[in-house]
Amino acid sequence: MSKKDQSFSPDAGLEHGINLLHQVSFETENLPKKCPNSGIGELKTLDLLAPHVLGRAARLDRSDVLAHMDPPTPWITWVAALWNASLNQNLLHPATSPFAIDAEKLVIEWLTPFFGMNGGHMCSGSTLANLTSLWAARDAVGIKRVVASKASHLSIKKSARILGLTYEEIPTNSKGQIDSEQLKNISDACLVLTAGTTATGSIDSLKLAGQAKWTHVDAAWAGPLCLSPTHAHLLEGIEKADSVSVSAHKWFFQPKDSALVMFRDLKKANSAISFGGGYLTSSNIGVQGSRGAAAIPLLATLIAWGRDGLVQRIDRTMLMAAKLAEKLSNKKRVALWALPTTGVTVFRPLTCSTDELQKRLPEGMFSTCILDDENWLRSVAANPLADIDEIISIIDDEIYGIIPNHTHI
Ligand SMILES: *Cc1c(COP(=O)(O)O)cnc(C)c1O
Repeated sequence: MSKKDQSFSPDAGLEHGINLLHQVSFETENLPKKCPNSGIGELKTLDLLAPHVLGRAARLDRSDVLAHMDPPTPWITWVAALWNASLNQNLLHPATSPFAIDAEKLVIEWLTPFFGMNGGHMCSGSTLANLTSLWAARDAVGIKRVVASKASHLSIKKSARILGLTYEEIPTNSKGQIDSEQLKNISDACLVLTAGTTATGSIDSLKLAGQAKWTHVDAAWAGPLCLSPTHAHLLEGIEKADSVSVSAHKWFFQPKDSALVMFRDLKKANSAISFGGGYLTSSNIGVQGSRGAAAIPLLATLIAWGRDGLVQRIDRTMLMAAKLAEKLSNKKRVALWALPTTGVTVFRPLTCSTDELQKRLPEGMFSTCILDDENWLRSVAANPLADIDEIISIIDDEIYGIIPNHTHI
């Protein structure tokens, strides 16, 4: 091996990797069955892996893809992620991440005011952000019960289980929101409100924030609407929460693993979720130990697009959902669950089963959800590159087949 191990300095390798990213068709070769004893070298590895990694990936940027909360990512985040991988900074130690720590502080400082919070940190997803928030609730104010709606994300129940807290589920109303009439005494509980439920995108009444001993708002999906002058009103009341979770790898268009956990009283929360000790020069806040600089791609996106550019993309996807719902609502052979509030449109065909239609549609166009024992198609407007007219015409073809002049049926 040469004096300087070339595996740590890329030369032509990165360029080759980027070229492969643009290649459209690949011939797939089998991967080794066992961990190889001798390696084939970096360039050959890229050629071997590209057909699998790139060729067999779900394409989230296709114009007919609207199924999930996973967006395509802007290329500025690819560069930032590449820098991150090459530098391998560790947010656990200031000595191993001098700028990365500042970048996270900056991003948190910029974004928390939109949610009425005054600080927080990043973690790898809202599952962890929710766990961190309920942990803070338990140890900062001593709550023993978590109250959430039936439509809350499974990570709430999971967190309650991990933390040894009682989990109480409240039914939802016809709009998929927590049925506040069924909320009994919550003055000693942690109330979890969801801003953008995973199945229907419903927002629980945020007027309830502040009525429990601790209120956590799980805004994993719809939180980014707080930056939009057009849509922020939907989340009015969020500022009364004690903690808020937002997944940046959803509607902030970030690569995984990127989320924010934010607190209104940062000092109180941090004192409950910090561990000092030994070799750490500053205490470890939150659940994760070593973690990467997810703030840097987010920082790059915010600087490159500005708030306006980010909001433009979010608002565009909101318009897409509205357009999709409007077109679907005019079809007699389709039942729309409700008009979308946060970009999630739920509907089902009336002339065949949901499963049947789903099978005939391109993969990734829609997902499914079960509501009141009924199967529905679910569309999530996370893809700013989607083409609603194209999607509608594909649905039309499948529902109406060859019936001519079908647009008003
Ligand atoms: C996606 C989602 C989560 C979980 O977030 P991850 O980032 O996938 O861990 C939690 N709550 C809601 C409402 C979500 O939509």
